Amino acid sequence: VGVHAQNDSVMMANLYRKALTDGKCYQALDYLSNKIGGRLSGSPQSYQAIHWAEKTMKEFGFDSVWLQPCMVPHWVRGAKEKGIAIIYKTNKNLEIPKKLETHICALGGSVATPKGGIMAPVVMVDSIQDLQKLGRKAIEGKIVFFNRRMDEAQINTFDAYGRAVDQRWAGPSEAARYGAVATICRSMEVGISKHPHTGSMRYIDSLPKIPCAAISTYDAEELGKYIKEGMGVSFEIEMHCQTLADTLSYSVVGELKGTEHPEEIILVGGHLDAWDNGDGAHDDGAGVVQSMEVLRLFKASGIKPKRTLRAVLFMNEENGLRGGKKYAELAKENHEKHICAIETDAGGHTPRGFGLTSDSAKYQKLLSWAPLFKPYHIYEFEPHGGGADIGPLKEQGVPLMAYMPDSQRYFDYHHTEIDKFENVNKRELEMGSATMAIFVWLLSAHGWE
Ligand SMILES: [Zn+2]
Repeated sequence: VGVHAQNDSVMMANLYRKALTDGKCYQALDYLSNKIGGRLSGSPQSYQAIHWAEKTMKEFGFDSVWLQPCMVPHWVRGAKEKGIAIIYKTNKNLEIPKKLETHICALGGSVATPKGGIMAPVVMVDSIQDLQKLGRKAIEGKIVFFNRRMDEAQINTFDAYGRAVDQRWAGPSEAARYGAVATICRSMEVGISKHPHTGSMRYIDSLPKIPCAAISTYDAEELGKYIKEGMGVSFEIEMHCQTLADTLSYSVVGELKGTEHPEEIILVGGHLDAWDNGDGAHDDGAGVVQSMEVLRLFKASGIKPKRTLRAVLFMNEENGLRGGKKYAELAKENHEKHICAIETDAGGHTPRGFGLTSDSAKYQKLLSWAPLFKPYHIYEFEPHGGGADIGPLKEQGVPLMAYMPDSQRYFDYHHTEIDKFENVNKRELEMGSATMAIFVWLLSAHGWE
């Protein structure tokens, strides 16, 4: 162990101790979740969050704090959605139907139903490919019910999410292609609950825009069972959502200037917007307060970084990515040199490690630091990783990193009404800040060379 490594491990231990004994991120998350709450871009809460973040970073004493303007979509949910399943003995025998109130919520960006709602027979499919097999005759005039589960056998639940989410994202337009009048999509959840999970979707402009909702995994199981038993199922759906005109919003940036290489920027960030149904405590309140905390830990410990550190709280990750796109555009215009961008947008759970998308020399460098992380039980260093907000920096050759907490419980909360402060653990949240801070320490001290 060289003198370097000894100094590094001492600095890392100090930062980690500070995070666990004198942390500020939990209290910040309390405010963001409980005083502001859900904050979709364009909402009044999103502006409260912008002002709060700016003020908080100034109070932390960062060298500079500024707002970065961007135009954002403005979608509103409106009155609570209604989803009633009507179960008949069979498709032919329509006597004495059973009615079930289900737990649904509109997908972000969805159009409303006509006033009074839509009622139509349900056709259940496993995938977008199934639509083609069934053809227009089986689908026209119906409500398509996408019911493919997230694969419980995947150890990283983000992998399972990636393999299931096309039903939500592309399903509505693909169903409309065959004449469907609406879609309901099984929620992106590994387990079974009565919480519907919202999320974004995208219409194809040349196809009819049909209303689309997520249905809880509990209700999806019920409907699936009735359909498999040969019973007739219709669905009545009513939604009041609306897309308003694009509006001006902001990402919030805070900076500690580097002492030796101020032109070399290390970015740590998450997204400030969050879905409207919960408080966005995990997604991505955790990432917001952790990003600010990384810089605060340096400042409060009296450490002046050699390279410039930036906390970036991006606006509009959930339904447009406008903040991330704008940030990359300006970075290019201003010839900024980011030596690394780290995104924390995977929840406030126990840290596991990092993923890095870059060249093999940088990955080898990261691996060479792995022993320094061992005391903190950080063992995972994957050769790929990044994040939605920092993704647009990729074409400028910026090394992209994902901070990776444990993923097992993330999709219990993701995009639901239970993504709330009480479901984030203080210590786990603080360990996340600390883990990023010690990586940022290493990179700010040594660079990638
Ligand atoms: Zn997120």
